[in-house]
Amino acid sequence: MSKDYEVLLYYKYVDIDDPEQFTKDELMFCKSIGLRGRILISDEGINGTVSGPKEVTKKYMDHMHAMDKFSDLWFKINEADDYAHKKMFVRYRPEIVSLKLDEDLDPNQITGNHLDPKDFRTAMQDEDTVLIDTRNDYEYELGHFQGAINPDIRAFRELPQWLQDNKDKFMDKKVLVYCTGGVRCEKLSGYLVREGIGKEIGQLNGGIENYGQDEETRGDLWEGKMYVFDERISVPINRVSPSVIGEDYFDGTPCERYVNCGNPECNRQMLASEENQEKYLGGCSHECRVHPRNRYIQAKGWSTQEVADRLAAIGEELPATVEF
Ligand SMILES: [Zn+2]
Repeated sequence: MSKDYEVLLYYKYVDIDDPEQFTKDELMFCKSIGLRGRILISDEGINGTVSGPKEVTKKYMDHMHAMDKFSDLWFKINEADDYAHKKMFVRYRPEIVSLKLDEDLDPNQITGNHLDPKDFRTAMQDEDTVLIDTRNDYEYELGHFQGAINPDIRAFRELPQWLQDNKDKFMDKKVLVYCTGGVRCEKLSGYLVREGIGKEIGQLNGGIENYGQDEETRGDLWEGKMYVFDERISVPINRVSPSVIGEDYFDGTPCERYVNCGNPECNRQMLASEENQEKYLGGCSHECRVHPRNRYIQAKGWSTQEVADRLAAIGEELPATVEF
């Protein structure tokens, strides 16, 4: 059954004159048509994910395609039951994805080979190839390609250093990289080419999103789900043989439910069932559980005594100085 809403994912590296004015104009337009989401604009291009009723997303796509610069803008479209965002943000940034290279590069000048889903599937099964997931640790944990290397980073800008530290393993291999919609890999694969890390560099064109929708690959060789940066949290990718690989942070059982650690100073993203989140007072560690500003405890409205009792049930003690 067809749904009434759409989520759009898109980017383009292209010179934008007066990006700050363009940011203001776009924010006004997007709000006026009832679009929601997050758009980043910079001198180097645009990167967005937006959602709305189909007539609204169509208006937005027409609006973008009417501009010469964006007449070929590629929107990856996913149907949805509702808005996937609460608000509309359009922001000016120095980069459309924050990689912060010491020496920046233009992916229109230097980047890895763009491989379409079918070619990417063939390439990643080549024994002479290493497959690197360029996303963050919490994204990898929920789902990834079979056999992909997890750099275990918490932010994209940590990836160049990780590549430098591990480059000996990749020097004489073909290297393939992938990310959600493709934008992160544009500069990252360019960096690999520039640094000579790997003998041939390929990137998944259109990202995992495109791979999952492709009628030939149908998400084949993807394990688990794909993490997305909106209200949906995760979306299915593999339509051939779907699986669950996410594991509950507390007991390792299969789990695809994301929560943030209740300690506002930690905020760690983890997978946890409702039961375990409650059992462990919403905290990823003892220190986080007994943090005086634990948001999970605040939301539950538990008294100091109740917190102490709940901690005792998991063999922990509430420090005498902490009160709720
Ligand atoms: Zn924590």
